[in-house]
Amino acid sequence: MTSERHRVVVIGGGFGGLNATRALSGADVDVTVVDRTNYHLFQPLLYQVAAGIMPEGLIAPALRSVITKQANARALLADVYDLDLGQKVVRARQPDGRPLELAYDTLVVATGATHSYFGNDHFAEFAPGMKTVEDARYLRDGILSKFEMAEIESDPQERAEWLTFVVIGAGPTGVELVGQVAELAHKVLPRDYRSVNTTEARIVLLEGAGAVLPPFDPKLQRYTRKRLEKMGVEVRLNTLAVDMDHDSITVKGPDGLARSRIWAAGVQASPLARMLAEKTSAEIDRAGRVAVQPDCTLPGHPEVYVIGDMASLNKLPGVAQPAIQEGKYVGKVIGARLAGKQVEPFKYFNKGSMATIGYNAAVADAFGMKFTGFVGYIMWSLVHVMYLIGWGNRLGTLYTWGRALVFSNNRAHRIITFEEARDELAEGRNRAGRPAPILPRTPAAEDPPTRAR
Ligand SMILES: Cc1cc2nc3c(=O)[nH]c(=O)nc-3n(C[C@H](O)[C@H](O)[C@H](O)COP(=O)(O)OP(=O)(O)OC[C@H]3O[C@@H](n4cnc5c(N)ncnc54)[C@H](O)[C@@H]3O)c2cc1C
Repeated sequence: MTSERHRVVVIGGGFGGLNATRALSGADVDVTVVDRTNYHLFQPLLYQVAAGIMPEGLIAPALRSVITKQANARALLADVYDLDLGQKVVRARQPDGRPLELAYDTLVVATGATHSYFGNDHFAEFAPGMKTVEDARYLRDGILSKFEMAEIESDPQERAEWLTFVVIGAGPTGVELVGQVAELAHKVLPRDYRSVNTTEARIVLLEGAGAVLPPFDPKLQRYTRKRLEKMGVEVRLNTLAVDMDHDSITVKGPDGLARSRIWAAGVQASPLARMLAEKTSAEIDRAGRVAVQPDCTLPGHPEVYVIGDMASLNKLPGVAQPAIQEGKYVGKVIGARLAGKQVEPFKYFNKGSMATIGYNAAVADAFGMKFTGFVGYIMWSLVHVMYLIGWGNRLGTLYTWGRALVFSNNRAHRIITFEEARDELAEGRNRAGRPAPILPRTPAAEDPPTRAR
């Protein structure tokens, strides 16, 4: 890549950033994708990593391998902490802590969203959420550790506490996760344990609203609730988690003793959205998303595009399709503008929504129709496989699912060590290694920046 060409810096190699990068493959530009992970994560299947069904590699291919054939693009592993819109410079931290400066002519910001504990940030210590591969592995260790503890435990009350799992939030992620915990407890694990009857596990889904899957059609909501209850999940609607500590969770109503809590209740935009709003006249919405113009640019900055979960445009939901479509649109717009062409505002095409409830059951709202059960599951499977990156991952995923479908106790990824279980169970455990929902440390003034070529 030569430095005289128009420089496009894309921050975030998720759905938005990757699609913007790919749409620029034919343009006369140099693209640098900066991400704080070295992989492109297919978040919709993350819960399957947490449930021990899939290995993470199938849903998180290395970013540089995804763009390997795109000669005008490269990937860098760095954590962006400042955007200097005046100097047109992105400031990031390299893995060794030193700063990195990247000059741009056009900037695409697509850093997604993080968990939101709705002002109860201390919940993060007791109810981890799921946003990265590391989070999913951590949840998997946590779930499996509780079953291991229950097997050793002789006191019936203590054992019941180890075997109580509470998922907070009945959106698609919460429903998918709770369904997997139920399948583990009722179908996968029973024959592997000797002292404990894993089917006695109490699996609770808490939801503050009056229905599961709040944005879905009422018919699909009712189906989902019934199906979950049939799988042994206790669905508690209109119920808010008001407090929690290491051993218990307090809800409005009776308290529950549970050592396993999973947060699937809310997200807020990446902190870079607020930073961009503070540096410009752009507004910020309740989810922390920065309002963009109809062409996805930041007000007053036609060279800065903000897309995906961190952008607020036409009240679009924070799901994959808007991010993918905005990414493709922005890539085309950048190329068209360099060629001196006019562009139309972004138009969203709603392809529908879907969620799985467990093996063999899903709900889908697509093509103007509602699907449930096995038909919904087949649709869900095909759509998700189609959107994975690369045929190797697609075939690997189909094989993994087929194997788990035929051998219902087959979860190949159930490995934990004593140390992992100990760290997960320790009170006041150190989560320093996990991404914090705050801006990373700014490198010290004496750290000399590396200027990327
Ligand atoms: C568990 C889960 C399940 C989901 N299921 C579905 C589903 O079934 N269907 C659906 O449509 N949507 C689903 N979603 C939502 C969907 O994944 C998001 O809407 C989509 O990923 C948004 O794309 P994005 O490009 O805006 O952000 P992301 O895909 O999140 O990408 C953001 C990227 O930015 C990087 N990044 C963040 N901060 C920095 C920084 N400071 N410096 C450098 N890099 C940074 C991140 O590492 C990441 O790679 C799910 C989300 C989750 C978490």
